[in-house]
Amino acid sequence: MDSFDLIVIGGGSGGLSVAERAAAHGARVALVEADRLGGTCVNRGCVPKKVMWYGAELAHALNLAGDYGFDLELHGFDWAELVRRRQAYIDAINRWYATWVEDNDITLITGRARLVDTRTVEVAGVRYRADHIVLSPGAEPLVPEIPGAELGITSDGFFQLERQPAEVAVVGAGYIAVELACTLRALGSEVTLVLRGEQLLSRFDALLREGLMEEMIADGIDILPCVHLEGITRGDDGTLTLHGAHGRTQGGFDTVVWAVGRRPLTSDLGLETAGVAVAEDGTIPVDDFQNTNVPGIYAVGDATGRAQLTPVAIAAGRRLADRLFGGQPERKLDYDLIPTVVFSHPPVATVGLTEGEARERHGSAVKVYTTRFTPMRYAPAKRQRKTAMKLITVGAKERIVGLHIIGDGADEMLQGFAVAVRMGACKRDFDDTIAIHPTSAEELVTLK
Ligand code: FAD
Ligand code: NDP
Repeated sequence: MDSFDLIVIGGGSGGLSVAERAAAHGARVALVEADRLGGTCVNRGCVPKKVMWYGAELAHALNLAGDYGFDLELHGFDWAELVRRRQAYIDAINRWYATWVEDNDITLITGRARLVDTRTVEVAGVRYRADHIVLSPGAEPLVPEIPGAELGITSDGFFQLERQPAEVAVVGAGYIAVELACTLRALGSEVTLVLRGEQLLSRFDALLREGLMEEMIADGIDILPCVHLEGITRGDDGTLTLHGAHGRTQGGFDTVVWAVGRRPLTSDLGLETAGVAVAEDGTIPVDDFQNTNVPGIYAVGDATGRAQLTPVAIAAGRRLADRLFGGQPERKLDYDLIPTVVFSHPPVATVGLTEGEARERHGSAVKVYTTRFTPMRYAPAKRQRKTAMKLITVGAKERIVGLHIIGDGADEMLQGFAVAVRMGACKRDFDDTIAIHPTSAEELVTLK
């Protein structure tokens, strides 16, 4: 039986990074991947999504161009062409990974892996042994268990669409629902966003939630709150109808997209055989050091259910490899203050506590600074998209514990500010920083 220092199950964001860092430390590493290297992020997540988002940004810019004096005649938008170019980009990343495996001296095993005991992994009937096994199988989109659910697609199906949907219902209120709804609308589809509650992005600060809902409605997205879906049917004309509680129906859709969360791919990993504990929702519980309950078996990334973001999976993987093979026994990921962006239109960027969380935790020690303004970009425009920002501070020194932005450029603005927040910046540090003028970001260092 071939044996290694480390076997990694899953060649996505988490698995690739733990494998690469461990190999750099001199470990003999095998990486098992059932599908394309790069995982969700590269093949059906962040990367193709961001290409579509750039397309949507261009559509917004084209709408604005007339207000800047450009006399444009638009002859249409070729969805299939954008998809073709997007796929060519992803194929190039996939090819790059093939040489990356060789360059890093990693043994790639293609197939679906299962644990057969605490040190042995089986792929296509062949067994491999290692002292350390990292589980990084990621997650897959959830589809609700209601009649006709199979008539809808998920984000995976969205990336396979060769033709642009004309009338789309997106069901959900989280990252994916909001991102896909905004992109589809900007590119010209009629979009209905179906929420089960009253709000979108429920875990985000109210300033962002409310501001985004206003912008999405202004962009022509039909938002239906408080819909309890009971089924989908296809009519004789081929269109889809959503059926809600109390006989409520909404029809005429050519596409329905489920964006109602993701489920860890842990049911077929042989976890029970190896004695690895699994939570009811399929996530693999880990401690602060990514250890599962079984010594020598670790988990990183989406399957652990903590902050399902690519940079988090990467950071957890690298720190784990540093700890196991790099002589850094205390190395671990700090899951606090993780910055994150929703690529909506406009984007939403956030780090730290929401106002609600801060007040719950710190009571009257909280002081909040807010601003809402029209960025100069829209000065000559008929439609004035707003930007809004919120800074949440605590105590006499006004340490910043939360920072929230909605508006053009928020996505690129946040990263630097997240460093400052992580370093313990106080309001005074922001005030003492010279503004860059004229920008939107300068508002964050001139808040009163
Ligand atoms: P994955 O990347 O899913 O990799 C897991 C890999 O394991 C897969 O390749 C799978 O084929 C393989 N695998 C599973 N089981 C087995 C097995 N038994 N044997 C062998 N191989 C197996 N995050 C961001 O930070 N920014 C974004 O903009 C962003 N956009 C997103 C957009 C969408 C539409 C989606 C769905 C996700 C997005 N994410 C984004 C989240 C991000 O993609 C994930 O957090 C990240 O990919 C998690 O990495 P992972 O390694 O845990 O899992
Ligand atoms: P999220 O956890 O963001 O949101 C799931 C949403 O589904 C919630 O809003 C929830 O509504 C709603 N929901 C759940 N069940 C139902 C139902 N039966 N009917 C209607 N709505 C339902 O999950 P996503 O799938 O959007 O994304 C998964 C994860 O991927 C994200 O959490 C994020 O970590 C990552 N991601 C990151 C991106 C980025 O960094 N830009 C982009 C895309 C994904 P309610 O709010 O009412 O509970």
